[in-house]
Amino acid sequence: MAEYCSQCSPFENEFDIDLFKTALKLKNGNSESFICEGCNNRAVYKDETGKVYLAKLVKGEIELQPVNIEELIK
Ligand SMILES: [Zn+2]
Repeated sequence: MAEYCSQCSPFENEFDIDLFKTALKLKNGNSESFICEGCNNRAVYKDETGKVYLAKLVKGEIELQPVNIEELIK
């Protein structure tokens, strides 16, 4: 079965990877990776200061994009 993250799930309120909850439970300096089959999100990362990033696979390389945790609430 395909797994979708909360950013790209085609289903209403139904997704396997909840980006907001994942970001919430991450400790500073940690990351959690996953494979979303609907988009290029590959991991959520929280740096030492608590800033949250989405790691996206862009042209074969991982790119860190800073996000506000509120943007991940679905
Ligand atoms: Zn996705």
